[in-house]
Amino acid sequence: MRATVMYGAGDVRVENVPDARISEPTDALVTVTRAAICGSDLWPYKSMEPSEEGQRMGHEFIGVVEEVGTQVSTVKEGDLVVAPFVWSDGTCAFCREGLQTSCLHGGRYGFDGVDGGQGEAVRVPQADGTLVVLPVGVDDELMASLLTLSDVMATGHHAALAARVGPGKTVAVVGDGAVGLCGVIAARRLGAERIIVLGRHPDRIALAKGFGATDVVSERGDEAIERVRELTDGFGVHSALECVGYEQSTFTALSIARPGGAVGRVGVPQDEAIPAALPTFFDNVTIGGGPAPARAYIEELLPDVLDGRIEPGRVFDRVGPLDDVPDGYRAMNEREAIKVLIEL
Ligand SMILES: [Zn+2]
Repeated sequence: MRATVMYGAGDVRVENVPDARISEPTDALVTVTRAAICGSDLWPYKSMEPSEEGQRMGHEFIGVVEEVGTQVSTVKEGDLVVAPFVWSDGTCAFCREGLQTSCLHGGRYGFDGVDGGQGEAVRVPQADGTLVVLPVGVDDELMASLLTLSDVMATGHHAALAARVGPGKTVAVVGDGAVGLCGVIAARRLGAERIIVLGRHPDRIALAKGFGATDVVSERGDEAIERVRELTDGFGVHSALECVGYEQSTFTALSIARPGGAVGRVGVPQDEAIPAALPTFFDNVTIGGGPAPARAYIEELLPDVLDGRIEPGRVFDRVGPLDDVPDGYRAMNEREAIKVLIEL
């Protein structure tokens, strides 16, 4: 079968790899019908050391179950399923608390002999705890939005929950990438009164406004912090969603939270330390977040997608076949595309 392999920074190839197949009784074999390139895939794309064996890529996908192991009972051959971006057993102490990203028997796609999602098929371990059956056809018009439940929409929702977004709240979203845009959707969905998006790309800002952003701050650094304070009577926001991961964006998110406010961090941190320790301490700012337990959120978000109440699939602004994956990485890295959808 064909799949995406990264061999170093800027070196992504689609090539022949061993066919995916069942190896554990808890596995499902899934033929991928839609996949995506994630903003987090760009971190190794920028920095990976050259590797001879390469790294299988992709963790966002929808597909059809081809075969299941003998112990799998919740999905069957022919089911259309969405996969959260990590696999999990659904039964351990952390899964039962809705924190499947810390599953005691879980793991990541592309590691330890598990296929990546940017390929023709994936062996999904712990299929019962991981996969969610979709009640639609393979080519349903909602497919792009359904695919975001794998990661970006769940991640935006997680940021909003960690930042304690709720009715009447003033929210700021730091970052206008696909996750930030989904953060706007999530904030609106949870009843935020005002949503300030911090970003500067016209096409992304237009999308953010379409999703419910009420204000735009295109300044950066201290000027951005100043501008948000001006917009909020000098107080700052109740909820700040950090959807980038850089030191500066994290500092901005922490600095615009008002006393007693909260920051939800979902951008993968690129630094060891969290900045602004002293001011956030004296302002009683809650700092939360981490990788989103997408599996815990899919059932809650799915009805909204099916009913068209939210349309996170609009973050995909480029669609192509598997062979376009390497150029898709380039396009996202050069900010030519917000997010790339792969049709198989
Ligand atoms: Zn678990």
